[in-house]
Amino acid sequence: MSHAANDTILIRGGRVLDPASGRDEVCDLLIENGVITGLGSGLDHIEGCIEVDANDCLVTPGLVDPHVHLREPGGEHKETIATGTASAVAGGFTTVCCMPNTNPTIDSCQTMEFIRLRARETAHCRVFMVAAATLGRLGKEIAPISSLVEAGAVGISDDGDVVADSQMMLNVLRTCAQVDRVFMQHAQDPALTRGSSMNSGATASKLGLIGWPKLAEELIVARDVRMLAETGGRYHVQHVSSAGTVEILRQAQARGLAASGEASPHHLLLTDEACDGYDTSAKMNPPLRTTADVEALRSAVADGTLSVLATDHAPHTDEEKDSDFENAPFGIVGLDCALGLYAKALIDSGHIDWPRLVALLTIEPARLVGLERQGIGRLEIGLPADITVIDPDMSWTIDPDEFASKGRNTPFAGLEVTGRATMTIVGGTISHQLDQSLKV
Ligand SMILES: [Zn+2]
Repeated sequence: MSHAANDTILIRGGRVLDPASGRDEVCDLLIENGVITGLGSGLDHIEGCIEVDANDCLVTPGLVDPHVHLREPGGEHKETIATGTASAVAGGFTTVCCMPNTNPTIDSCQTMEFIRLRARETAHCRVFMVAAATLGRLGKEIAPISSLVEAGAVGISDDGDVVADSQMMLNVLRTCAQVDRVFMQHAQDPALTRGSSMNSGATASKLGLIGWPKLAEELIVARDVRMLAETGGRYHVQHVSSAGTVEILRQAQARGLAASGEASPHHLLLTDEACDGYDTSAKMNPPLRTTADVEALRSAVADGTLSVLATDHAPHTDEEKDSDFENAPFGIVGLDCALGLYAKALIDSGHIDWPRLVALLTIEPARLVGLERQGIGRLEIGLPADITVIDPDMSWTIDPDEFASKGRNTPFAGLEVTGRATMTIVGGTISHQLDQSLKV
């Protein structure tokens, strides 16, 4: 982040939510020199300060997305750290954790240093790295996990690919436990998903596509949970898609294991029927499932089995997505429109309320990757001023042409959602403002 945080900002009359402390009250919030310096009713105007009217809005800790693909280095035609983090702040996110499936892979301190420098020069929000578990994410040789953690890795994952080999998985889990970092699994049994491009079921049969069974996810998670009981440490399932996975996690948690999971907007809203007509914008990894799975994921978020939300932001070019279904890449642009989609899936449907949604997007992911110790995901006097102002009643229509991301790949174009970030403040600097005339 390149901006100096010298602005004094007074946010007036918003509903200030800090799930970490339980704060939920209408009051003012003052930011000076990048830090939260005041919280209370009727704070005095300060000469020259920027006053923000937050009436009827939520004032929350900056949102945290623990699972994004920024594509740099190696995939700059799809996204860069600059455009990916512009997409983040447009969506209300002030912290993102990028996955290691770049080229080169994030499996060395040199690549981490490169990303850190690029982020310092070009990012609009905070960027933390999840480093690879194995060299090149190839599953053959373990990555230098201790060194990567010393260099700042906040989690370990081969995302994009599973750690399939059981001996390797044991080594990785043991190492992650030793260095106190969460291991994040992309749960996909490779033998059960060869040539697969969408969920097994009626739509796949109709389209003549090879099915991707839920079992491919559930078998890996069941194996890993069994290993976790031996190794200790913390284990996290990325982009959970199946009701069966939820059940495995629920049982693991009941046994006291530190096993968690995340849900993504598309898995909380869509089924495999969205792939009908060979619509590549609905091609996801893991694939969209069934109505029963969607309902199980929503219930799991409501009861706390799934404690984290993550977009799996995965931009691609139109040319790439325009190829035939089997050859098109997996994924969806996540960050720009995630908040409205989460609200639609979880609040409009009556599963949770705004304070819980804010927790799922702030303190919960911050704890997952150990960032709450740096004050991330929390809102208190003395902490860095990462703040998101949300209008929970604002209805808007998702328009990919308005995305700050380079990607336009989404099946949600034209969908009306309610709830939007109107201002995003990173370290005391206004990094995004939806409509200057409207709220300020
Ligand atoms: Zn993944």
